[in-house]
Amino acid sequence: MIADPKVLILEDNDSDADLLIRELKKSGLKFFPKIVQNRSAYENALKEFDPDIILSDYSLPSFDAVTAFKIKQHLLPLIPFIIVSGFIGEENAVELINSGVTDYVSKNKLVTLSIKVNKALNDAAILKEKLITDEKAIIQAAALLIANEELVFQNKEKEKRAADLILLTENLKVQQIELQHANLQLIKQEEKVVLINEELSKLNQELEDRVASRTKALAESENRFRNMMETIPQIAWTNTVKGEIQFFNQRWYDYTGLSIGQTQIGGFNIVVHPDDQKNILKQFGLIRKSKNGGEFQTRVKRADGLYRWHLIRLMPIKNDVGQLQLWAGTATDIQELRLLQQQKDDFISIASHELKTPITSLKASLQLLYKIKDTSSPIMPNLIIQANKSLEKVNLLIEDLLNASKANEGQLQITPKQFFLHEVIRDCCNYLIDEGEYIINIKGDKEIQVYADAVRIEQVVLNFVTNAIKYAPHSKEIDINIEHFSGMTKISVIDKGAGIPQENLRFLFDRYYRVDHGGSKYTGLGLGLYICSEIIKKHNGKIGVDSELGKGSSFWFTLPISNLSLDQIRQIA
Ligand code: ADP
Repeated sequence: MIADPKVLILEDNDSDADLLIRELKKSGLKFFPKIVQNRSAYENALKEFDPDIILSDYSLPSFDAVTAFKIKQHLLPLIPFIIVSGFIGEENAVELINSGVTDYVSKNKLVTLSIKVNKALNDAAILKEKLITDEKAIIQAAALLIANEELVFQNKEKEKRAADLILLTENLKVQQIELQHANLQLIKQEEKVVLINEELSKLNQELEDRVASRTKALAESENRFRNMMETIPQIAWTNTVKGEIQFFNQRWYDYTGLSIGQTQIGGFNIVVHPDDQKNILKQFGLIRKSKNGGEFQTRVKRADGLYRWHLIRLMPIKNDVGQLQLWAGTATDIQELRLLQQQKDDFISIASHELKTPITSLKASLQLLYKIKDTSSPIMPNLIIQANKSLEKVNLLIEDLLNASKANEGQLQITPKQFFLHEVIRDCCNYLIDEGEYIINIKGDKEIQVYADAVRIEQVVLNFVTNAIKYAPHSKEIDINIEHFSGMTKISVIDKGAGIPQENLRFLFDRYYRVDHGGSKYTGLGLGLYICSEIIKKHNGKIGVDSELGKGSSFWFTLPISNLSLDQIRQIA
């Protein structure tokens, strides 16, 4: 039972309320009473007094027990509600109890009040107890449910983890197999590596042996090379690819009187004639660029201070695969040779000059003799014609000699005028074309004009043509092409003769140079092409030859085109 319960009494009649309290106290019940007489006091008391039981009159002036019961049910549904009233009738009482009112006590039979109050309080306590127990049971059941769910969840997790573990184990097995496989492979590869290593070390050994023997061979060949350089009578040296001097033979030190130290500091520069310095730099540069070697002449100072002419030759030394390794150079003393050359030039110049006059008078005499020829002797006219032809040949030779001397001294005279190139070339070839022995095809632009020495240009063309006839006697057809390109004209004389070996080509325009054709099949002085090149140089043109053995040669020269108007030509003329 509830100890010291709070009893709310809804009664508008004070004496009835006192009676109720007295009646309850009489039964020995200890309690806290609170009397309310209207609806608002009743509602406040429900909230603030918080009663354990309510005793209510059935009807009040502005309120009634049925409404009071409904309000209580809404706010405090478990609190017992007993109606204490006068007579309300058996039926009403039953209905009230059916609708939930705890009990009914008649004011006339108050002796039952304490029993019913005690019972109601007891029932309420039991009901409360039950409710609390039920609630606890529900909470426990809920907790059990949650715990169960948790267990189910944990179980599922465990199952999942077990499945994962199985999967992992299977994966591990697969990986283990793969690892074993890889391990096997590694072992095989290791075996291969061991084999390769063995081969490599063998190869290395072989290479080392080869390098050692090659180095030895190189050292030996270098020694031989240096020894050879020491044995030749010329100055000799070697240059690196970049042009630095590596070695000079003893002849250098003997000739120049320089020490090794002086040579290292100054090299060639100290001994080359000051006037030749620029030229040798240019020549060395050109030769190194060409990569094929080359030569030029310069004056080199002897130990006694005298300068002597030397022929400098540079040859590229290449390895087996054609790569340039170094340059080998020689300087040959040509002082005497140059003197002899000079004397020869002087002699030729004087002789040809001196010969010119008697030849001219000889020619005049022959002409006279031809006019007054003695017809009694039938061979006389033929002899005179023959003598005239020979004289013409001698005359041409002397002309060549004189021209060469002039060219050598830089005195070749050029008298330029404006003319049509095709016309001049055709005219000079006419007599050959007329003879009918050779077919000469002159092709190309007939309108090209040049401002040049027509006689000299004619001389060049004739030289090319007569050479073609002389050196390609079996080919009866000669082509002369006149082309033009970017302000220049190119005249080529093409034969289908034996051609000229490549190694001879670069010397063809040198003085007295002749290609060895085997025996004295072709006579000549080797001056024609030299004179031609000097003539073309004087005209700011270029001269050259393209030739192929067995196919023929093409000798060519170029001249600047000068297409002046007729007025301009007249002005020049
Ligand atoms: P020359 O005819 O008096 O020997 P050139 O200076 O005219 O002198 O010619 C030089 C050399 O060039 C000749 O000796 C000859 O070997 C060669 N040569 C010139 N023209 C031809 C040619 N068309 N075919 C082959 N060789 C030629």
